[in-house]
Amino acid sequence: MNNQNGYQPISVEVDMTQASSPSQRLSPTQISAFRKCGLRYWFSYLLGWREPPTPALAAGTIVHDTLEALFGLPATDRDFANAWTIMGTIGKELLLKPEYEHLGRGANRDDVRKRADAALTGYFNLEKPNEIEISHADLETDVDATLSGVFFHGRLDRRTRKPIDRVTDYKTGKKPSGAPLDDYVQQVMFYAAAINNGNDPGVEEVELLFLPDKQAVRRPVYPAAISRVTDVLMQTRSDIDNANQSSKWLAQPSRLCNYCPFKPVCPTQQKTAPIPGSSASQNMLSQTGLQRKSAPVANENGGAEFLPMELND
Ligand code: SF4
Repeated sequence: MNNQNGYQPISVEVDMTQASSPSQRLSPTQISAFRKCGLRYWFSYLLGWREPPTPALAAGTIVHDTLEALFGLPATDRDFANAWTIMGTIGKELLLKPEYEHLGRGANRDDVRKRADAALTGYFNLEKPNEIEISHADLETDVDATLSGVFFHGRLDRRTRKPIDRVTDYKTGKKPSGAPLDDYVQQVMFYAAAINNGNDPGVEEVELLFLPDKQAVRRPVYPAAISRVTDVLMQTRSDIDNANQSSKWLAQPSRLCNYCPFKPVCPTQQKTAPIPGSSASQNMLSQTGLQRKSAPVANENGGAEFLPMELND
């Protein structure tokens, strides 16, 4: 059966020798990555391959950190001038880190700056942070839950309790439509499912703020929506475990292959590609400039470290 992009999914046998076990906890980004392409997920999360951060990723990190710091200020100080100053400091520090160093010069630096400026300016067109009541404990918080026996872990951007109880996810890329937008909504709905799972049935609405486009997307939280994402979580857990046991991962060729760092070694794209995970395949990936996380087995953090590849943009 074709996938939603009209391409035929292909089961690909891999060499598991150098791969770690799948994380016991699933995060929204991991689930989304796996469902987009199981083989890409395997390269990224279980083999631990990563590529240098892109301007989009750097800008996203800078803006998320800036908004977190802004909401740490008293409400009266949450203005654009202060946000701009904070962003300058955070941006400078980030681009000095060794893994971001290549983005700190020339066209790359301009690109990072342009994206971050557009997102921050867009944010102030969307809402007035000085009018938002927020507790420190509701900023960039870890959310852990066990849903129908499956461990969930994520880190949410923000939760506000007035005028209604709402979780918000900032997006620093463009607002998509159709299935990609549904995927974003699903990702933030996981947080509502996890939070409402215990003694805290509070979250009533989820929100995505597409900052450069100055657009908010809101969806109500209701039992059928919670039940849908819980089913997705359970199905994903089962699909990942089955793939891991069988050493066969489902590749989902699509137009996204053109942006996939594993295209040079992907058997769906190269007829003569060596078996993924074999020494030959690993050597080819090294030669493309990708780097491998030394201990992917330690991946219990919800996946943030493994997503420099804009799977989520
Ligand atoms: S090239 Fe396409 S099919 Fe192959 S791993 Fe990447 S996204 Fe999946």
